[in-house]
Amino acid sequence: MSIDADVIVIGGGPVGTTALALLGRAGLKAIGLERDTEMWPTARAVHFDGETMRTLQSLGVAEEFRKVTIPMKDVDVVNEADEVLVHAPTDLLGDQAWNDHISFHQPDIEALLRKVIDTTPGIELRCGVTATEFTSTGSGVEVTTVDASGTEQVLRARWLIGADGARSEVRRALGIETDKYGEDAPWLVVDGQLVGAPGYATDMIQFARYSRPALWLRLPGDRVRMEFMLVPGDNPEEIVTPQAVERISRGILPADKFTADRQAIYTFRGRIAQRWREGNVFLAGDAAHQAPPLFGQGLCAGIRDAVNLVWKMALVAAGSAEDSLLDTYESERKPHATFWVESAADQAVVIQTLDPNVAAGRDEFIRKNPEKSAVQVSPALGPGLHEGDRDERAGKLGIQPILADGTRLDDMVGSHFLVAADRALYEQLPPALKRALDEDADTVTLLDPLKIDQILDAANARVVVMRPDHYILGVGDTAADLERLVLRIPPVAHTTNLITATH
Ligand SMILES: Cc1cc2nc3c(=O)[nH]c(=O)nc-3n(C[C@H](O)[C@H](O)[C@H](O)COP(=O)(O)OP(=O)(O)OC[C@H]3O[C@@H](n4cnc5c(N)ncnc54)[C@H](O)[C@@H]3O)c2cc1C
Repeated sequence: MSIDADVIVIGGGPVGTTALALLGRAGLKAIGLERDTEMWPTARAVHFDGETMRTLQSLGVAEEFRKVTIPMKDVDVVNEADEVLVHAPTDLLGDQAWNDHISFHQPDIEALLRKVIDTTPGIELRCGVTATEFTSTGSGVEVTTVDASGTEQVLRARWLIGADGARSEVRRALGIETDKYGEDAPWLVVDGQLVGAPGYATDMIQFARYSRPALWLRLPGDRVRMEFMLVPGDNPEEIVTPQAVERISRGILPADKFTADRQAIYTFRGRIAQRWREGNVFLAGDAAHQAPPLFGQGLCAGIRDAVNLVWKMALVAAGSAEDSLLDTYESERKPHATFWVESAADQAVVIQTLDPNVAAGRDEFIRKNPEKSAVQVSPALGPGLHEGDRDERAGKLGIQPILADGTRLDDMVGSHFLVAADRALYEQLPPALKRALDEDADTVTLLDPLKIDQILDAANARVVVMRPDHYILGVGDTAADLERLVLRIPPVAHTTNLITATH
């Protein structure tokens, strides 16, 4: 079958455009399809973590994006009586070499991603084009599209990524069910600007009020996000009117100090698709998982999906890894995303109660267990291409050192495997393996202590092998560990097998 692209991406939201940009940077040919003609002008996501910033760094837009973001410096959880139950500082330059928590205006990042797409060869985003049908052909997929004038076209590709959002037609067409986490809850989201008022001293406050759970969040400039849970008796048509916003935001922000520029109701829900891969079709982003936005991780998780999938596709397309590597997309990402969906659904139970007695019990529990803060730590990947089954340091996100000259290590390593090793161990590798490492364009070997000491110290190891998505493939202390780990790098294993076969 002749193909139009290696990959077709359905959905030009933030996950689809990130996937497209990463595919282009990896040298693959890809076509994105977005049914809307214009970019969505309003925000849903407002928070990114350091890992997401590192992905934007790999696309060359992190510095530009940073200028229109602010670090989120702290988070409070307060109760009905305005007692601060939790105060968590979040203003840290984290181990990803970026702030661990930043706030932003979603259209800013979507515009930057589209700029990357426009300037990267091999990829394009077709706006105003709807995917109406797709079929698997055995060796690939055929996607039927229709544009605004009603013209139909059939596109062929090796792989399809369904990044078509929570109501994913790709997921439905494959008959994939979702598992539900927690209870669905409708919330009113209000975005606007502060007028002549500084707002709260704390950057994010979750108001765990049983009369009406709510949220306040400072955004760049004078922008503010507020969210209010709908409670029994609310009329969904009335609650989105300016008068209703003025009424319910009293006690959060006086109406004369705030101008709303949009209000919309979203149902906060927890869902995980039961399968993420069907032959050559993959689900990513909200199509695969949706979390109540209490930890601001839904889009971060979708961007992780794109990162995880794209480097694997690039290796398989180049013939340096077997197709089975693509099975590790679901096995690694699904448990990781499930952790965040479950955590957010649990936090929603804590924040959303409307029962004063339950709220009193919760407040007492938090007072007695202050160490259980509102901030969660990202888990390890599920089983896949890493040694997490033999060592708990593997399968976790590795650090990004900032070097003595102020540069970040990824800018030198790029999206490649990284072998960071004590020189004495490296010297003991068989010459053929050293040669394979040397010649492999997908792997960077670093032995200079000035560049790798922070990585080795953080893992408390003499060798650390990281994957192109910066997750740790494995760690070790001996030459045998190094040899074993290097042979788990698919392109190195591939060339080594070839070397053995031809001698
Ligand atoms: C109130 C709220 C606050 C949130 N806050 C955060 C936060 O702070 N941090 C965070 O990380 N996440 C947050 N999230 C979650 C985040 O917004 C979503 O996870 C993210 O937007 C999902 O992106 P996506 O690209 O997967 O899907 P979408 O943004 O839904 O994009 C899907 C795209 O596919 C297109 N499409 C669908 N079908 C077709 C078709 N057949 N053909 C062509 N195009 C099609 C649609 O038009 C759409 O543009 C929040 C969510 C909400 C509701």
